[in-house]
Amino acid sequence: MTQQASAQARISIERGREKPILNRHPWIFSGAIVEMRGATPDPGDLVTVETHTGMFLGRGYWNARSQIQVRLLTWDDEAIDDAWWTRMLARAISGRRAIAGTRDAYRLINAENDFLPGLIVDRYGDWLVLQALTMGIDVRKELIARLLLDLTDAKGVYERSDVDVRAKEGLREINANLAGDAPPNVIWIDEGAGFPMGVDVRKGHKTGYYLDQAPSRGLFKAGLSWLPPDARVLNLFSYTGSFGLHAIEAGAGQVINFDASRDALEFSERIAERAIAGGKSWRADQFEYIQGDAFDFVRDQTAEGQQYDLVICDPPKFAHSSAQVERAARGYKDLNLHSFKLIKSGGCLLTYSCSGAITRDLFQKIVFGALADSGRDAQIVRQLSAGEDHPIALTFPEGEYLKGLLLRVY
Ligand code: SAH
Repeated sequence: MTQQASAQARISIERGREKPILNRHPWIFSGAIVEMRGATPDPGDLVTVETHTGMFLGRGYWNARSQIQVRLLTWDDEAIDDAWWTRMLARAISGRRAIAGTRDAYRLINAENDFLPGLIVDRYGDWLVLQALTMGIDVRKELIARLLLDLTDAKGVYERSDVDVRAKEGLREINANLAGDAPPNVIWIDEGAGFPMGVDVRKGHKTGYYLDQAPSRGLFKAGLSWLPPDARVLNLFSYTGSFGLHAIEAGAGQVINFDASRDALEFSERIAERAIAGGKSWRADQFEYIQGDAFDFVRDQTAEGQQYDLVICDPPKFAHSSAQVERAARGYKDLNLHSFKLIKSGGCLLTYSCSGAITRDLFQKIVFGALADSGRDAQIVRQLSAGEDHPIALTFPEGEYLKGLLLRVY
């Protein structure tokens, strides 16, 4: 895959459209390209990007199938060879050194935000899970996996490239072992939470687990000083029950895990049972598991007059593009309105949006609208976001997606 700079095709950018590139935004859309000189590259090959006058702008990988035709890897006139990949991977890994001392599951490489467009790598105990979102990464993934095994003490790299966005790059979905030893069916990770958390890297969502919610899990690890003892908790969109388990560990009395996925609920029950068998003093009857549609459930619960000390509302992405923002906003408003009604005075709401198309500002406005309709009062106790293992490149505002609020409700 190593390709001499001299053999690379040269792409020139339309006059007046260099600014984002000079500002180090990594994406070049097809419409900004006026000309290509040299032999037509293969999908994923490196190209050199220039101004219309031939001045060097950057170097990146190319794919004509994608609307984002070039993703820039460097803005310096340097070679993108094995040594370059080693350097960039090592840089991202060293950025996680502090986290690695406190837990054994975290995001190791955060794509564009670690200046490695299209590449996601998560660590779960002794295994790495790689997601190749672009052709440029897909054609280099064996090299990347080998370097990752050299740079870390991981036993293997599993590939979870089963995501829709690959179709836009002309790639099919892949879910298979990539390098080294294959992972076990369940990896038991240590988040420093006091109990082992199970992750199924083959069938789980994303690469297996919502690592981005670590800061919110930290709220529970610090204890439930913000809630009464024996709190009653409703964990909406519970997935494998992580927030519910953290709440019980922190002293909550009872938690309802609610999710549309029966598999996720069964897995969360298994995780709780294992912790109890391993010596946790929790009781299995502190956990309830209910499957269904959360929109219907919160409506029914309000009609029944149910009341909780804490409601957690962590839905999936509702807006996949700016065209879906309005519909998504209605969804968030509805869920939050009912959640407010379900909270005892003095209780709390933990509410999230992971839609990148909905800004933090807009999300807060939507939650405010829900509050106004509910007739309640609320204070922001904490603004929440993804953790430091999910850094956001300042040059890439698209990298920010997760925002949350811890509210006290009266
Ligand atoms: N809070 C979880 C992550 C939630 S991910 C954690 O910390 O791990 C979103 C979850 O919402 C998924 O598990 C998905 O199965 C579930 N889901 C999606 N649509 C739903 C709906 N309409 N009703 C209930 N659950 C839904």
